[in-house]
Amino acid sequence: AKPVVAIVGRPNVGKSTFFNKLAGKRIAIVEDKPGVTRDRIYADVEWLNYNFTLIDTGGLEPESKDIILSQMRAQAKIAIETADVIVFMVDGRTGLVAADEEIANLLRKTGKPVLLVVNKVDTSKLPDSFYDFYQLALGDPVPISSTNALGLGDLLDEIVKRF
Ligand code: GDP
Ligand code: MG
Repeated sequence: AKPVVAIVGRPNVGKSTFFNKLAGKRIAIVEDKPGVTRDRIYADVEWLNYNFTLIDTGGLEPESKDIILSQMRAQAKIAIETADVIVFMVDGRTGLVAADEEIANLLRKTGKPVLLVVNKVDTSKLPDSFYDFYQLALGDPVPISSTNALGLGDLLDEIVKRF
């Protein structure tokens, strides 16, 4: 069976933007408002000689008051259940926040390979906040810019290494 890669992370870090870049089409909904992705969305991705299914998580009713927490839980659950590799996306512009630590703790318990990806690193210079992500103890963070398509090839290499 084809490996499954799930993108998880708190709202607004750029999961759907990344998904759309790899899917090559605008499938997922991208908006400035956190929590707009309503459904899990799947895409087939080809890289080198590998084929895998990519899942954009984030689907929860925006009505929930506790949206960030419930979204985290739902995403982590999807990842635990179906993913072979988990792409844990954080935001290089906002830097490390408490919600990232909570997600990291959930993901650690899965025992599955987790790749820590710092999105919104839009230039070749790493922001100072980049190094804070080492505190998550999930290995070397991989910097990317989904909008500028930077670092995506290196990230794909790291993903397929884990199959
Ligand atoms: P999601 O909630 O995690 O799916 O995040 P979205 O993909 O909906 O993106 C949230 C916001 O971040 C949107 O305004 C995107 O345009 C923006 N964004 C996504 N990726 C990048 C990036 O690499 N650099 C910058 N500067 N903004 C980005
Ligand atoms: Mg989304």
